[in-house]
Amino acid sequence: MLSKELAVKYQLVVGLEVHAQLATSSKLFAEDAIGFGADPNTQVSVISLGHPGTLPKLNMRAVEFAVRMGLACECRINRHSSFDRKNYFYPDLPKGYQITQDKEPICLGGKVPLILEDGSELDVQLNRIHLEEDAGKLIHAPGKEESWVDFNRAGTALIEIVTEPCLRSSEEAVAFLNEVRKLVMYLGICDGSMEEGSLRCDANVSVRLRGAETLGKKVEVKNMNSFRNLGRAIDYEYERQVGLLEGGTAVISETRTFDADGGCTSSMRTKEELNDYRYFPDPDLPPVLLTEEWIGSVSVQLPALPHALYRKFREIYGLPRYDAALLTESKEMALFFDTLCSKTRHYKAASNWMMGPMKSHANETGTSFADFPLKVEVIAQLIELVEEGQVSFSVAAQKIYPELIINPGVTPLEIAQRLNLIQESDSSYLNPLAKEVLLENPEKVKEFKSGKKGLLGLFMGELMKKSGGKADPKVASRIFSELLAN
Ligand code: ADP
Ligand code: MG
Repeated sequence: MLSKELAVKYQLVVGLEVHAQLATSSKLFAEDAIGFGADPNTQVSVISLGHPGTLPKLNMRAVEFAVRMGLACECRINRHSSFDRKNYFYPDLPKGYQITQDKEPICLGGKVPLILEDGSELDVQLNRIHLEEDAGKLIHAPGKEESWVDFNRAGTALIEIVTEPCLRSSEEAVAFLNEVRKLVMYLGICDGSMEEGSLRCDANVSVRLRGAETLGKKVEVKNMNSFRNLGRAIDYEYERQVGLLEGGTAVISETRTFDADGGCTSSMRTKEELNDYRYFPDPDLPPVLLTEEWIGSVSVQLPALPHALYRKFREIYGLPRYDAALLTESKEMALFFDTLCSKTRHYKAASNWMMGPMKSHANETGTSFADFPLKVEVIAQLIELVEEGQVSFSVAAQKIYPELIINPGVTPLEIAQRLNLIQESDSSYLNPLAKEVLLENPEKVKEFKSGKKGLLGLFMGELMKKSGGKADPKVASRIFSELLAN
């Protein structure tokens, strides 16, 4: 950890480049299938390999996905964009160049709104979102001095989301990546899996004296495959760069790699060794021309987005920040909750049900809320039963709810009646029982009257036993306070 003093002296500056693999059924410029885990080199055509005489053909579904993301981030959608070749040699790159968008990306500007843990809000400014193709994969043969290449991934469609250097802490960077992951999943354009590499992130990190106008020299860190490692890598770089400057050494522009085991970064290549990519317009691909109508048709199909749902849950349903954040983590959960709220007005109770017993069920069974076994109407009836004081929450959650899951056709009330769980709120029934409790505990009554008010809990417990757990606590507590008042 950087000392407080140095953290005040030096400001951290981060810009992220996020690659999201698009969930199209074929590649960006070829009809090869896509699928994680297929046998190596089984999803490769002559187009992906760039054989002479072949021509790339743009997958419009990928364009649509990129535009969806651009619209969700309020980017400017370029009516005219184009593809360039980025030339470099690496064995996983079959053509010797990558087709990407350099000069005229499909989306420019835009922002991603974040809500941080302390509730503060931040708009992360985007520089651009562009389309490009992925490279293949090198597999280093275990225990051998050999590497193999799998071209299945070569040519897969990616979008790259590039932020401005506007992030100021590892927490902000992690929150941004989390929000991008949510967005692409809500939009249905990427599966969001960081383990399988569908979502990858490079971090550009620099430091400068706080208040300085110009940015410091940046270091690009690669190979963080989790949120946690992104945060660790940025914190490590912050400390390392400040250490260099404090010791009178300049930071050099370089690409570094993060080692998760050691928790540190190490140099991969310095600026002098950097490739000159010799970008030039790809002569095989015409520019992408988008019409207003087409963009409009993509726009009207956008789903509700996490940020908008968060606001709705806070402002319309009056939920606490924690609830609203948790319920919007997945689209399926958010939409289920939103529909539930059209059937009940007890929004906070509905949220407790979602975050408690219902989320547990989804986690335990590994299912999504899209396949939740109970209809929203049934959950709403269950909530109503508790709110009316017919059953306690714990009885509802522990006795009725598990029965409903097994038997979704019956109503919560039917189960409550069949299992004899309806709370007793009739005072002509509870009053004599309460009197019995007090008569059986004369000493405790004395103590209560001399000030030990906590004993009410004991009396309530005894009454619960006598009533077989069915005494309505509100009514019972009123009866006791009347009986004990004189
Ligand atoms: P390059 O030409 O080296 O690729 P770019 O200007 O395209 O650099 O920026 C790439 C990424 O690096 C962007 O996300 C940008 O916000 C970020 N970035 C640029 N300069 C800095 C800096 N001084 N400190 C931190 N991040 C930076
Ligand atoms: Mg760049």
